[in-house]
Amino acid sequence: MGQNFAFFLPIMMASFGIAFVIVWGWGARGAGYWSAAFFCVGGGFVIPAAARALPMPGWSLIADLLFASGFLLFSQALLDRWRPGWLLPTRVAIWALSGALCGLGLVTGTLPLELVASDFACFLLIAIPLVAARPATRSWPDRLLFAAATFVALDNLVRGATVPLTLSADERFLASDYAFLMQAMACVFGLFLALAALAASVSDILARYRDEAHRDPLSALLNRRGFEDRIERLDRHPWSGSVILCDIDHFKAVNDGFGHAAGDRVIAALADILRALSPSDAVVARFGGEEFVMVLPDRDAARAAGIAEDVRQCFATEVAARMGMDRPLTASFGLSVRKADDHSIHDAIARADSALYDAKTLGRNRVCVQRALTTTNRAARRA
Ligand code: GH3
Ligand code: MG
Ligand code: MG
Repeated sequence: MGQNFAFFLPIMMASFGIAFVIVWGWGARGAGYWSAAFFCVGGGFVIPAAARALPMPGWSLIADLLFASGFLLFSQALLDRWRPGWLLPTRVAIWALSGALCGLGLVTGTLPLELVASDFACFLLIAIPLVAARPATRSWPDRLLFAAATFVALDNLVRGATVPLTLSADERFLASDYAFLMQAMACVFGLFLALAALAASVSDILARYRDEAHRDPLSALLNRRGFEDRIERLDRHPWSGSVILCDIDHFKAVNDGFGHAAGDRVIAALADILRALSPSDAVVARFGGEEFVMVLPDRDAARAAGIAEDVRQCFATEVAARMGMDRPLTASFGLSVRKADDHSIHDAIARADSALYDAKTLGRNRVCVQRALTTTNRAARRA
């Protein structure tokens, strides 16, 4: 049985090492650590075969160091998700101490010391990320990873604590229950850990692609698809609130006068202002061209008008001056309130759009609320 493991484990670990190299190439966070960790642990399981092919003292210490290095890299990969860089000097110290104790065990011929030092070091190295993980383990890939790492940690702890039961003094290491259990558990829990880490990495990549597909590259705000997705999620529960549409005034003239690149910078500047002045639960999107939408859950018309007015003033007073433009840059805003009998958000957007049309026809650089009943542009009134 042990012979089969001896072939299977290094191949399994190396396969995952290669899989993570591929995933690393796709830009998955921590995949490089996972890859290196599986190669190290796989290397540790190759040692018995290497020792048989080339007998010499010290092979077991190389295996111990490979296992400890693999677990240091596991901890690095897990903490990369949950708390990057946490307790690195402590973890390196655990790695070094286990190497020293394993070396002492080898020199003094005390195999149990070597095994206990190695198992407890591996336990500590993978248990540290579990302590760091708790608040971050909300998504299912993280929970799966947490469960797999817990099994691996417990496996090492129990194995280290039961060395006197599984290893008799006169026995060869590879013939011992200890070696059999170590290899059997490494198959089961190593596979679980690798699959959980792969699932987490692939889920990260998918989330990144989904985010990129939902985001407008120029403004870094949601695009129309991202907006629809967020509103669909918002619509799962009844909600009330307001909608603001915003459109830059005479933007064609900005492009014509200062060039398309300057126009792009103006769009990005307005997006920054919208992002900075919108509450954290607002859904802000670029609807195309120089038009933006902001959905404000739980905000009535007065509060939404206050936010729109802040954005209007900030844009009108800061952007043209900052970009050295010798003509004013302004934007107009249309505001509506979501009604309980609206079929969808698009009903409220249509009302905001007609309010925006009113703002444009009334002279631009102002905020209009629904059918132009109210204008809150004090600056325009003063003018
Ligand atoms: P109004 O005050 O009535 O809104 O006039 P406007 O000139 O802003 O409106 P219009 O719809 O006539 O022109 C919008 C311009 O926005 C036309 C288009 O070339 C420009 N535009 C659309 N998307 C982009 C973009 O991504 N970058 C730049 N620089 N310009 C864009
Ligand atoms: Mg415009
Ligand atoms: Mg427009």
